[in-house]
Amino acid sequence: MGHAYAYRCDYCGFQENFNQGHGFLVHSQPVKEYLKQRTQIFHYKTHNLLRNLSRKNKDLYLKAGFQIYKCPKCRTLQDKVEVTVFNDEKEVHKSEFRCKDCRTRLRLTNIHRLKKAICPKCHKRTFQRDYSSQELWD
Ligand SMILES: [Zn+2]
Ligand SMILES: [Zn+2]
Repeated sequence: MGHAYAYRCDYCGFQENFNQGHGFLVHSQPVKEYLKQRTQIFHYKTHNLLRNLSRKNKDLYLKAGFQIYKCPKCRTLQDKVEVTVFNDEKEVHKSEFRCKDCRTRLRLTNIHRLKKAICPKCHKRTFQRDYSSQELWD
């Protein structure tokens, strides 16, 4: 189960939802099981990486879920499917993302502590949680 966080710009009214958590297709499972599915859920680079990793090791496990990231430079928010691959307890891979605007590496953000971000539309620092529209999704 995941959570959608609604953000709204006080200045221009731009609205965007950011997802955090697990969905129907995006959840934790053995890599073997993921590769058996017909649909390719993750980004093709992640998908290929999982296929390559599983050739060398049959007992990998993956954790996947939506996470909310923030660009340290633009201060805009972006949600991504983070995939972490484990071999026993050891982490062998973790997704990294770059900002689509400036290519800086994104940092995970704690949406509960985050108050204001930069609006992706008008670039003012008036982008904030819209508490009137909270939704759970599955
Ligand atoms: Zn950026
Ligand atoms: Zn705005």
